[in-house]
Parts: sequence; C-alpha cells; structure tokens
Amino acid sequence: MKIKNYINGSFQEHDSSEWLDNYDPSIGEVYGQIPNSNQKDVEKAYAFAKAAFPSWSNTTLDHRSRILLKIADLIEANLDRLATAESRDNGKPLWLAKAVDIPRASANFRFFAQAITQFSSEAHETIGTNTMNFTLREPIGVVGCISPWNLPLYLFTWKVAPAIAAGNCVVAKPSEVTPATAYLLGEILTEVGLPAGVLNIVHGEGARVGQAIVAHPNIKAISFTGGTATGAHIARTAAPMFKKLSLELGGKNPNIIFADCDYGKMLKESIRSSFANQGQICLCGSRIYVERSIYKQFKTHFVDIVSKNKVGNPMDADTKFGALVSKSHLEKVLSYVEHARDNEGYTILYGGNQLKVTGSENGYYMQPTIIEVTDNKCRLNQEEIFGPVVTLMPFDTEEEVVSLANDVQYGLASTVWTKDIDKAMRVSKKLEAGIVWINTFLNRDLRTPFGGMKASGVGREGGLEALRFFTEPKNVCIKYN
Ligand code: NAD
Repeated sequence: MKIKNYINGSFQEHDSSEWLDNYDPSIGEVYGQIPNSNQKDVEKAYAFAKAAFPSWSNTTLDHRSRILLKIADLIEANLDRLATAESRDNGKPLWLAKAVDIPRASANFRFFAQAITQFSSEAHETIGTNTMNFTLREPIGVVGCISPWNLPLYLFTWKVAPAIAAGNCVVAKPSEVTPATAYLLGEILTEVGLPAGVLNIVHGEGARVGQAIVAHPNIKAISFTGGTATGAHIARTAAPMFKKLSLELGGKNPNIIFADCDYGKMLKESIRSSFANQGQICLCGSRIYVERSIYKQFKTHFVDIVSKNKVGNPMDADTKFGALVSKSHLEKVLSYVEHARDNEGYTILYGGNQLKVTGSENGYYMQPTIIEVTDNKCRLNQEEIFGPVVTLMPFDTEEEVVSLANDVQYGLASTVWTKDIDKAMRVSKKLEAGIVWINTFLNRDLRTPFGGMKASGVGREGGLEALRFFTEPKNVCIKYN
C-alpha cells in the first residue's frame, strides 16, 4: 500500500521524495509506505482549505448534514475493507475493528450530521435598558486536527466530523504509525462529493507535519489527541499565537472495586477495561484497587481468566488480544516489566513476557500482564504504560481509595464498582477525572462531554462541546428605541 496525501479533493504526490515505512505489527514486516510530508505540503493543504472556506462556511446546515450522513453510510458500507485495513495497520483483532472502531467512525459522522442541525446559540435581553444581545457562533476558518494510533479512524473522525459540520475547513494529520484508514477515507470523501479543499489529509511525522500544522500562523485552532508530553509541546508552540486548543492527552485510570459490587459483572468488565485493544486505550483502567475483603478472591479469579484469553494473530476469529502497535512501543511496555523485575515492591502475578505467535513469529505480541504493587508512588502506578499491563493493590476504606486514585498527575477516566448508590455518588464527586463510569466501562453517549483533567488535557470533545470548540462565539449587542 503506497499512501498519498489527500489535498483539494484528490490524492496528490508529496513535495519531497522521502517515504516512511509502514509496518504490519502482527508479522513485524513492512507492508507499505507513507509520504514523509513537510511544511510545503501543509502550506499547500492550507491554501486549498482557505480557498474552500468561504463557500463551505456558507452552505446550509441541511446540505452539510446530508454530506456527513453520506460519509457515515459509506464508512458503514465499507466496514469489511476498513476494518481489515485498521487491524493490519494497528495489530488490533479484526473482530474489534469490525465491532468498535469502524462503526464508531461512522457514528461520529452520523452524530455530528444531526448535532449541527440542533446546534443553537443564546440570546440575552438586558431587561429595562432596551438592549438585546445575541450570540453568533461562526466557524473559525482553517483548523488543524491531529490524532494518535490507538483508535485510528475512530479518533480521526471524532475531530474532523465536528470541525467540518461547524463549517470549518481542515488540515488533518493521522498518526504516521497507522495511516491506512485515513487514507481510505479520502476515497469516500471524493465519492460523496465533499467539496474539494474542505478536508485535507497530510501524512508524515509528528515533528514535521504535525509541527507545521501547529506552528502555521493562519491555522487558528488545533484539536489534538495524543501523549501528554506532545500536548505540552503543542501548547508551548500554539499559546503565543493565541490559538484555540483542545488537548486530549494521556491517562492512568483507576478501576475501583468495592466488595459490595456485582462480582461477576465486575470481573468480566475488568478484563475488558484492563486489556481491550491490548491495553492501548487512553480510557483503560490500568490501576486496579480492590477492597481487602475480596482482594484474594479477585486476584485468583482475575489471573485465572486472563491466563485463558488467547493472544494471537489479529485476523483469527478466536484471538482475544492482538499485537502491540510497533516494536518500539512493545519495547517500552516490556521495559516497565523489567523495572518491576529489578525493583522491590512488585510481584508479577501473571505474564510479563513477549510472545512468539505460531506463523507470526516476528509480530509484536505480549502476554497480558498483572502486577501486584505495594506503593502507589511506584513508577508502574504513576506513569502511563499504555499497554497490556495492570497493577493490583488492596484498600480498606472509601477515603483511602479516593486518595490513591487521585494521587497521580493524570485525570482522564475512572471506573467504580459498587451496588451502593450513595457510595457511588460520594466517590464520583471526589474523583479527579473527566469521566466516572459506575458499574460499566467505555459506555459512551456521544452527547456527553469527553476529556480529562490535570495532565490528561484541556477542553472537552463530544456533543455540543465539540461544536462550541469549532466555532467562535460573537456577542452582538443592539440598543433600540
Ligand atoms: P503522540 O503524542 O506520540 O502522537 C499523537 C499525534 O501527534 C500523532 O499524529 C503524531 O504524529 C503527532 N505529533 C507528534 N509530535 C508532534 C508535534 N511536535 N507537533 C504536532 N503533532 C505531533 O501519541 P501516540 O503515541 O500516537 O498516542 C498515544 C497517546 O495518546 C497516549 O498517551 C494516550 O493516552 C493518548 N490518547 C489520549 C486520548 C484521549 O482522548 N485523551 C485518546 C487516545 C490516545
């Protein structure tokens, strides 16, 4: 697969002759090439986006909505092709890409196609002064969207759909680690007749293409999802230019299990919240805190079930966990296990090793790994690993577990298991996290605000929050006689 940039409604050659290798992580081999675009490609994409803006921002909401709905339909119609491409590019099980990633990409377009028709602004009458204020919500202009590799098309579309629904034109960059489905999206955009220049997709390295988008003086807003260190760098670049910024960053999410929970349901969902997508979801619960009275029981059952799940080639229907996304990421995750082996305070209860999968011996596979820790300040409880590694720790009281949960730099998501509604409410209010799931995990209503606190980000995506981000509010104040 030789990927091309999608600029001004067609696939185009990039400026330089440099290419990046694209790996299939399930076999550890190069299977395609990606343009290593540069600042000139971003400038070209910007110029076409700018040219498209006056017309696109003046299309009726109904027209925009219909185009987005058609994109949603075509993503759905191409489910098999897109899911296969996603699985091959990322290493995730094919069934997962079919059940979650691609349906959600379609849902993102469908949701914002409808949301834009329901988006309204406010009016404020200043009573007794003959003054009327109303708020215009105008598209910003050309905006930048930058997405990561873990949920490639899912997160790419989560940004570009609200951006274009609100009337903006976009210069977007998918992760260079997983560019395939964003590339295929270009074909769909052409087929549905999205006007040329409205959505431009430039491929390449973050430090080159991403940086050029963020540093571009006339790209007025940046919606970014990725690591906290990259987010901090982006903020440093964009802040002096006073760009609007939405930063969805890393997490180190607690999974809090009280003894009075529905044990069977909790156990099943905790496997998913720990290891879904090989633990490479920003929302995965990587620190599991279990009330002491059920700690031993949980430990035994959890290890037993996890050990029975198959790690294998993503294309096999019975594979539960696939490959990690890249060799360097696998090495990073394994380095945390090494740290646990070399230091006190850790007991590896299960896993910890790279795996050779028959027929795919060079793939980037790893056992799901469960490590018991004694100190919440340890590296494995403080740093984002973003792989199939979870820690276990017992707790005695509600106050204690809230304090353990909050004692990290991150504040993205959290999961709480209890049948006691009063306790659930108390804990929810005290947790420093943008999302609290009670007796559920990754349960998403696209209307809700999505994002994190602390080092997990700034701003919220989802529903009206995203449409507010991608519009500039303007107060019009009228004094009448
Ligand atoms: P990353 O920060 O390395 O890269 C994310 C994107 O930013 C990529 O497209 C990359 O090319 C680009 N980039 C890199 N350097 C850049 C720069 N200097 N300027 C502009 N763009 C640049 O992250 P990743 O490794 O792709 O993804 C994993 C991280 O993403 C994890 O930390 C995870 O928690 C986070 N994440 C967060 C959410 C969320 O919603 N909060 C969702 C998914 C992933």
